This record gives sequence, structure tokens and C-alpha cells, in this order.
Amino acid sequence: MIPKSHPRYESLKKREKIIRYYKKGIVAEAGLIAHGRGEAFDYLIGEKTQPFALKAERAAVSQMKLSLSPVISVNGNVTALCAKEIVELSKLLNAKIEVNLFYRTKKRINLIAREFKKYGVEILGTEPDARIPGLEHNRSLVFSGGIYKADTVLVPLEDGDRTMALKKMGKRVIAIDLNPLSRTAQTADITIVDELTRAIKEMINLSKEIGIEEAKRILEDYNNKRIISESIEFINKRLKEMSLLF
Ligand code: ATP
Ligand code: MG
Repeated sequence: MIPKSHPRYESLKKREKIIRYYKKGIVAEAGLIAHGRGEAFDYLIGEKTQPFALKAERAAVSQMKLSLSPVISVNGNVTALCAKEIVELSKLLNAKIEVNLFYRTKKRINLIAREFKKYGVEILGTEPDARIPGLEHNRSLVFSGGIYKADTVLVPLEDGDRTMALKKMGKRVIAIDLNPLSRTAQTADITIVDELTRAIKEMINLSKEIGIEEAKRILEDYNNKRIISESIEFINKRLKEMSLLF
């Protein structure tokens, strides 16, 4: 048990979850490494939702609300960290949930589907019937009624290749990625540089607040290039200030 008073309590809890779900077969080996990379970038932004992230989260919720067929794409890490919250968000935004794995195995997909079933949701998972053009074999598999026909896809923790392939299909892509330098972050239409569970919680709150007219206004004013730039600038400034402490 990690004591609540531990200064890294939240971070250690998440790490424990990822390990537990790795042992269950839901998180892939590479998922452990991806999580560690995320932790490092979270350190750099101060482990808090910063203003650039909040603006992107507002835009993301607005975009999802204005979409006709939004989909939330989930993988092992997303399932481990916040399946319950993803279900809540999907209901608020009328979005489908689809499993999309980099290391796609039937076993892992079934385990993930079962995890979502605990929260009463049937997700698109086991028998994909369409492909994302331009990606090799397994990684391209999707559902015709899900990602394939979606106008907007929320991809928490996605890989760069797939993000680019989705963009080429003409989809609006919303990424949650702590690394503003990743290809995913730089390719997405809306880039949320924030930790996944914080971002999803914030998006749940925003979904209850933002109406259709406000959503249109928010998107009119939104500039993703500026957001990415603000996030890199923030890290830059913060590191500079910290360097002066020594
Ligand atoms: P890309 O393929 O987009 O160029 P990459 O290959 O560097 O990126 P991947 O391993 O494909 O990275 O994806 C993992 C990404 O997810 C990393 O950028 C990491 O920072 C981010 N990440 C990991 N855990 C979290 C989390 N809990 N919240 C937000 N982002 C996370
Ligand atoms: Mg990658």
C-alpha cells in the first residue's frame, strides 16, 4: 500500500494500476514503456492540467459535441487507467468506444471488451470488418460502423503512424499525449498535452457545461498550432526558472 501522504502518490497509484493490468494481459509490454515516457513528460509540465491543456480539452469536447459520429479509441493503457471514466464520457458525448491496439491479439481484445462490460458497455472490439488505408496488416483493422465512418476520433495514447493514417482518411483527430514533440501530438487537429486520467476527468466536467452554441464559438477561436507552441514554451520557461534555483 502506498501511503496517501507520499508526494508521488497519484503517480505511483497509476504505475501500480498499469502493472496490475499488465499482469492481467490487458497492457502490452510496450505499454509499460509508453507509460514511463508519459511520466517523464508529466514531470516536465508539473503534473497538473496547465492552461494550454484546458483550452485543448474545451475544444475537444466542443468538437465531439458537434460531430455526427464521434468515436473514442481505446487501448490497454487506457483501459487500465480509466475505463470507467471513458464510459461516462462516451455517454455524455454520444460517442462509440472502439478497441484499437498496436499489438493486436484476440486475447487482449477480449479481455478489454470484458473490462468495459463491467461498466455495462458493449464496445466495438472482436470482429473488425474494415481497414485504415496505408497501414500494414493488423494495425489497420477497424469497424465500418466505428472508426471507419467516424468524423471525429479521440485517440488517447495513439501511435504516430495511425494518427497520420486517420488524418489522411479525412478524420478530425483529437489526441491526448503528454509529449508535445511526438508525431501524434503534432499531427492531431486538437492536441491535449495532459495526463490521460486528468484530461478525461476534465472533459467529463466540460461535457456537462458546454452547450452547442458555445461549442461553435470555442472552435472558431481555437488554434492548435498555438496550443502546441504554448505547451513547449511552458516546459521551456519552467525549466529555465528551475535552473535558476540552483
Ligand atoms: P509517436 O508515435 O506519436 O511519434 P512515440 O512513438 O514517441 O510517439 P508511443 O510509444 O507511440 O510514442 O506513444 C506513447 C505516447 O503516449 C508517448 O508520447 C507518451 O508520452 C504518451 N503517454 C503515455 N502515458 C500517458 C498518459 N497516462 N497520459 C498521456 N500521455 C501518455
Ligand atoms: Mg509511436
